Amino acid sequence: MSERVAIVGAGLAGSLLACFLARRGLNVTLYERRPEPRGGQAERGRSINLAISERGLDALRRINLVDQVMADALPMKGRMIHPVEGPLDFQQYSASGERAINSISRGALNNALLDAAEAAPGVEIRFEHRLLELDSQAGKLIFETPAGKVEAHADVVLGADGAGSAVRGQLLAEGALSEEVDFLDYGYKELSIPAAGGEFALDPGALHIWPRGTSMMIALPNPDRSFTCTLFWPTGSFDALNTSAAIEEHFRTQYPDLLPLAPELVDDYRHNPVGVLGTVHTQPWQAHGRTALVGDAAHAIVPFYGQGANCAFEDVVELDRCLGDTGGSWARALPLYEHRRRENTEAIAEMALANFVEMRDKVASPVFRLGKRIEHA
Ligand code: FAD
Repeated sequence: MSERVAIVGAGLAGSLLACFLARRGLNVTLYERRPEPRGGQAERGRSINLAISERGLDALRRINLVDQVMADALPMKGRMIHPVEGPLDFQQYSASGERAINSISRGALNNALLDAAEAAPGVEIRFEHRLLELDSQAGKLIFETPAGKVEAHADVVLGADGAGSAVRGQLLAEGALSEEVDFLDYGYKELSIPAAGGEFALDPGALHIWPRGTSMMIALPNPDRSFTCTLFWPTGSFDALNTSAAIEEHFRTQYPDLLPLAPELVDDYRHNPVGVLGTVHTQPWQAHGRTALVGDAAHAIVPFYGQGANCAFEDVVELDRCLGDTGGSWARALPLYEHRRRENTEAIAEMALANFVEMRDKVASPVFRLGKRIEHA
């Protein structure tokens, strides 16, 4: 195989995919709209950490990256429920108490994958290349770069450019696919709990949840002993708290144990952005046997099962397997990849929506505590 492969998006899925394709001896160019992230600052308030489970670790294991990534991971063996009043309630994820999901820094994971892709033979990474146009039949791509518009050509184009995928947009404009995006009437905002006296302010062995009926907050530990909290609130309710006093008062009554742990809470609240949440349905994920979507670009989901990145990693493993099973024929591998992955991604999309109700409401109910446990967050 000597095809030139263009991957658009050097996020989690794109950089992992480059590593897998390089092992097949393919020439891969990874195009990323952002500047080189290594050595830079994380974007404020944008999903700093991720829960990576066995599904994602399996992919990392296959490219010998699992030990490096897990060295800084914080295993969370259960969830810690924070009621408005009363004691905390730890609910372990497995009967043995040993199984865990892992809190991992998104930036460190992406950087490790970029390092691995860069070190792989035949892979080139071009930052500050934002895809503007794609002719999927001709394999022609046009990027916006600091030096102006740049044209590139590839035999195969893989869109790993996230939920708002430009590749998907171009395929849609060509009439090669249809899409449906179901936005949730909820947004998310991140807050921070710093280390207290050099130690974690909460138990780092748990995923913390503040279920509040129609809304909730969660917190995951970071290697620097801080926690990143994420509020999932109805859209519009963020703006309703428009003074420092109103913000403080709301947290004092609804999240009373958070306030003493988060000295920057009001500042974080006022300055961190509100992110949108939604589910992307695309049909089909591939066109002409030479263009396909991977990860969130094909099937972004809401984050309540902590499985979007894990699922994107599974796509990569399956696409690679399909290339193996078809003797490297992209024309046969791409439809096969979609066929094998679609049912699973549709199932997790539904489960992720259902788990929002579970997390924000049912985990706090006594019936739930007595009778039922689910595997993950
Ligand atoms: P992305 O990570 O979005 O990467 C896309 C890349 O493409 C980016 O680098 C972007 O800059 C680039 N790009 C975009 N447009 C262009 C363009 N036009 N040209 C060139 N490059 C472009 N998943 C989990 O498994 N566990 C979790 O705990 C978890 N928590 C989450 C919490 C929140 C609040 C959110 C919002 C998501 C969470 N997810 C989680 C989901 C996870 O973040 C995504 O599923 C995952 O990032 C998908 O990876 P991706 O590579 O497909 O897309």
